[in-house]
Amino acid sequence: MAEQQMRVMWCEKPNEVEVRWQPVYEVGDDDVLVRVAYTGICPWDVRAFSGLSSSVAFPRVLGHEVSGTVAAFGKNVKGLSIGQAVCPDMIIKCGVCKACRTGRENRCQHPTYLQFGGGYADYVRVPQKNIHPIPAGARMKAAAFMEPLACVVRGQDMLQLYPGEIQLIVGLGPIGLMHLQVAHAFGAKVIASDPVAERLQKAKELGAKWVVNPQETALAEFVADVTGGWGADAATLTVGSARLAEQTVPMLAPGGRFNIFAGIYPKDQVHLDPNAIHYGEFILTGSSDSTPKNMHRALNLIASGMVNTETLVSHTVPLEDLRHGLEMVKNREGLKIMVEVSGEKA
Ligand SMILES: [Zn+2]
Ligand SMILES: [Zn+2]
Repeated sequence: MAEQQMRVMWCEKPNEVEVRWQPVYEVGDDDVLVRVAYTGICPWDVRAFSGLSSSVAFPRVLGHEVSGTVAAFGKNVKGLSIGQAVCPDMIIKCGVCKACRTGRENRCQHPTYLQFGGGYADYVRVPQKNIHPIPAGARMKAAAFMEPLACVVRGQDMLQLYPGEIQLIVGLGPIGLMHLQVAHAFGAKVIASDPVAERLQKAKELGAKWVVNPQETALAEFVADVTGGWGADAATLTVGSARLAEQTVPMLAPGGRFNIFAGIYPKDQVHLDPNAIHYGEFILTGSSDSTPKNMHRALNLIASGMVNTETLVSHTVPLEDLRHGLEMVKNREGLKIMVEVSGEKA
């Protein structure tokens, strides 16, 4: 029988990508082969593709926001069936380090990245422990948001929201618009801030109580106004900007929680008034990546309809147009750019 072939979008070095044909991965005893339906493009992919991430080695196949169906599995795999809808976690955690053993698998000290096996390809192969079954009710395109939504869930967990509280979200890209929806799911009211009119419009559609263009309206005064001078109970910064961090923290209410969700590059420093933190009893937090638990919860939010991810997709490009998709993200065109590999019928 002729060997089955698959496409991978091969990046020989930064800023280069081409279609390559190669044999479909062999499946080891503990592995699951996933036929890819959709793979999202996120700003991290663009940073990595551009050679700006020191941790990313070339050549490689990028793509870590993947949905698909089980195409094959090894003899030790249990509980999955061929054709089942799944999302693979594209980072293999060691499972035994201190981080893994304390529920911080996102900070695993010995992770394995699938350098040649990313999601911009017809298939990916991961160990069974990396597979997340997609609950009934979720479409493939929506489920491809598992990873970024899991990161959002982790960031939102840091804020310990209580129903009726007010959360300020600075930056309304796909990530900010997911924060908005998770905040709603917790019963919070959201002040959504972004300079781009289309994004404010989307935030409104998704139920933001207040939307603000900070280039037209002084955000700090606005927050003070709508909270009766109290401030925001919680705030999330989805934009990598030290200046915005400095501006946001003083908008917190007493007991306010703040989450720095985005990495800040080039590296920078923040200047904050320690007395504001001390007397305000602020809780300043960071969150980075996500754990399997966060991923599980993200898929539940998607399948239950509490977070509408598909509405965040502005453009869907075929696999072989990956370069075009990466350029759109780089140029901040549209909202979420999704790569269609085999689509809903994966
Ligand atoms: Zn991502
Ligand atoms: Zn580990």
